[in-house]
Amino acid sequence: MEHGNGRTAAIIGAGPAGLYLLAELLETGAFRRIDVYEATPAPFGLVRYGVAPDHPKTRGIARVLAAGFESTEARYFGNVYVGRDISLEELRRSYDAVAVSTGMRGDRDLGVPGEDLPGSIGASELVAWYTGHPDAPKITLPENLDTAVVVGAGNVALDVARILAREPDTLIPTSMPRAVVEALQASPLHDVHLVARRGPAQAKFTSPELREIGKLDDVDVVVDPAELHLEAEDETEVETRRQARTTVKVLGEWSERARTGAPRRIHFHFWRRPVRVTGDTSVTGVELAPTRPDTAGPAHLPAQLLVRAIGYHGTAIAGLPFDADSGTVPSADGRVVTREAVLAGVYVTGWLRRGPSGVIGTNRPDAAEVAASILADLPTAAPTSGSPEDVEALLTTRETNHLSWDDWHRLEAYETEQGQQHGGDPIVVDDLETVLRVIGRPPQD
Ligand code: NAP
Repeated sequence: MEHGNGRTAAIIGAGPAGLYLLAELLETGAFRRIDVYEATPAPFGLVRYGVAPDHPKTRGIARVLAAGFESTEARYFGNVYVGRDISLEELRRSYDAVAVSTGMRGDRDLGVPGEDLPGSIGASELVAWYTGHPDAPKITLPENLDTAVVVGAGNVALDVARILAREPDTLIPTSMPRAVVEALQASPLHDVHLVARRGPAQAKFTSPELREIGKLDDVDVVVDPAELHLEAEDETEVETRRQARTTVKVLGEWSERARTGAPRRIHFHFWRRPVRVTGDTSVTGVELAPTRPDTAGPAHLPAQLLVRAIGYHGTAIAGLPFDADSGTVPSADGRVVTREAVLAGVYVTGWLRRGPSGVIGTNRPDAAEVAASILADLPTAAPTSGSPEDVEALLTTRETNHLSWDDWHRLEAYETEQGQQHGGDPIVVDDLETVLRVIGRPPQD
């Protein structure tokens, strides 16, 4: 305990980035108080509102992330939106260190005509809907939806393609809100096309996630062997990267599989990029252009739903510098930097620091680096004019209806009970009104 244990820290965002940082800071023993502020009522960020409902094992990482709140130094403030309920400046005045770990919730744009038509959405919006994010618009799938196009060759594209293509009844035992399960059950969707602008050797899929597609019951995977042709540069990728090798191998095996006549299909298309979304009042298809001269196949894919899974993008936070191109907050070793100087006592971690890549565990070494910077700065930190207790008093005065860790446990118990009724995982409550009712609060205006 080099620095004594009287220090205070605030973490904004209770996703994996913020909660790994909480664990790291607790470990130092330097803090008497670490408060975590989260905009949604429930914790865990992308573990709850990003990891697909049919991946319960990965969602189970929440148990590891929750461990920090067993410490008396750590407190949880759910349903507190920094920038609305409390300002960054108010937090800076009250804590020795403030770390921002709000991740990325927006989608990158394709930049093609027609992408704003109804029926064209970003993956983050679709994922937020099917995982039950309380702030996500409740999506109405097109009534005549038989075909969807998913653009992108990363794990998010695979998640979206899998959730849309799989037999909806298999989603009943998952955490998916019931309204979403019912919407998928009612949809006549049977074909999902995944469109990649480069080849199999350059795809960002990780191997277990890719292989899973081939194991789905009642889904045929369709791959054109001609698109798996490797040029010299692809051969180099395959020789040097195991992931590329596996992707090429797995897709090769699928290209030789005979179709079983399954009622649903996932089609892979490589070396094509969307150039226009067609339709007058809603999406009717996607026009594709080859990105390699010898690519044949459809130039127009008829579809009623287009999902852009081409990467997440951050949004600016009041009071913080922001790099609009990368969607990140500029930083050095986790210290937020403006054009002129380091913003004293303010740190950033997770996707907002390094961009939208890496798996959940990548946030752990990231958090360790940021924690080291925070710890190194504490001896020279300017004294605060307020305290965490002042912030709590402000939240109470502002009637923010914030949730404590005990409130979260109440919500969790309710979700577990709802899940048991369906013989499965806890079912995510996707609206604030129900959350407040479950934890015994009057509804918010
Ligand atoms: P990603 O892995 O970066 O993949 C984005 C994909 O979009 C790439 O194939 C990229 O192609 C393509 N793309 C970008 N701009 C495009 C454009 N204008 N037109 C067409 N295609 C475009 O991102 P992600 O899928 O959003 O995943 C984010 C992170 O979360 C990744 O690290 C991922 O592994 C992780 N994740 C993990 C899991 C899991 O482990 N189960 C699940 C979901 C997400 P280029 O390569 O050509 O740029």
